Amino acid sequence: DREVDHASTQGLLNMAREGETDVVVPEYIGLEAYRAAGGYQSLQKVRNGALSIDAIMETMQEAGLRGLGGAGFPAGKKWGFVRSYPGPRLMSINGDEGEPGTFKDRIYLEKDPHRTFEGALIAAHAVEAERIYYYMRDEYPAVLHILRAEIAALEAAGIVKPGFIELRRGAGAYICGEESAMLESIEGKRGMPRHRPPYIAEVGLFGRPTLNHNVETLWWIRDIVEKGAEWFAAQGKPGHPGIRSWSVSGRVKNPGVKLAPAGVTVRELIDDHCGGMAEGHEFKAYLPGGASGGILPASMGDIELDFGGELARQGAFVGSHAVVVFSQADSMKDVTVNLLKFFKHESCGQCTPCREGTEKMVTLLKKRGASDDTAMRDLEMVMRDASICGLGQAAPNPVNHLLTHFRDEL
Ligand code: SF4
Repeated sequence: DREVDHASTQGLLNMAREGETDVVVPEYIGLEAYRAAGGYQSLQKVRNGALSIDAIMETMQEAGLRGLGGAGFPAGKKWGFVRSYPGPRLMSINGDEGEPGTFKDRIYLEKDPHRTFEGALIAAHAVEAERIYYYMRDEYPAVLHILRAEIAALEAAGIVKPGFIELRRGAGAYICGEESAMLESIEGKRGMPRHRPPYIAEVGLFGRPTLNHNVETLWWIRDIVEKGAEWFAAQGKPGHPGIRSWSVSGRVKNPGVKLAPAGVTVRELIDDHCGGMAEGHEFKAYLPGGASGGILPASMGDIELDFGGELARQGAFVGSHAVVVFSQADSMKDVTVNLLKFFKHESCGQCTPCREGTEKMVTLLKKRGASDDTAMRDLEMVMRDASICGLGQAAPNPVNHLLTHFRDEL
């Protein structure tokens, strides 16, 4: 009942939104053009059995595609987990691109939305999902407009049954990008992360086994099915399979979404993909993975950026591949305070180490100097060890790096 009630409320909201006239919708590849260029042929192969579910599962495992929303969990493995639990199963798409510095999903959806739809429908077929819930942040009105129009086009063309893909709007909470909080939000509840286990592959949306993917993860599925696992894996650097979309911003000449191999370094991103540093700026430091992934000095600019590896040994992570570049004009203390204020604001508040810890960190950072960092180190440990979800666990990363690499700025 709750599901039905919420669906009708959502329907009313969507209708209200459609009455708005101020949304500027960019030119994009619609269903007709996408099909004319060979789109949905991979889905057809999968649906008519020319490509068996076992074969797709194997291809996904071999390709080494990772979850590109931030967690980096191997996509093929995830499909296997979801399939291992008895149906009915569901699928969700996480379009709540809220990690600061990340904008790749928006760019893709405003250009070629059907590539993600095709990937999603292939994944849904593989895990035999009964329905897809597409969660899209409200801050992307053009994307919402496009998704509404193209879901209707898919239904009209008979590619999906009416209601098979249901669009749900986020309401601006960063924490709703955390997958279990997103599921709570889709269920019509306050978006707060769930305790795990059980993982959502077993008990997910409305209590059912759920496959959740980020937009960019789905984006690559069609290419992997068409061109093969080897093709995809070979796009990365040795030991880092695959190609990734890097949202690069900050003090570079040409910021934007850059296609570069997994394992690329920040120096390569700056020099080979962004035309170098902006005029008058020298490379000083960078965020390898948005607000959560820590702050590293330029002396660590040759670390291969990928999940795990040297980056993890430095207490950092690549997350959603949002690289923010700083120069001598930027104070790392100010950057850290800014990031911690963000986490304080976005904490859902359900657990004490995160709710109180983020606030305390801001106060300590503002009031104290380098003379006494014991309190910050203690707090860092408590937050890391005792927070329920990644927000509280990762919030101290910039503080750790500030104390380790930029002490002279305190
Ligand atoms: Fe909420 Fe923070 Fe706890 Fe995550 S760590 S559940 S955001 S209070």
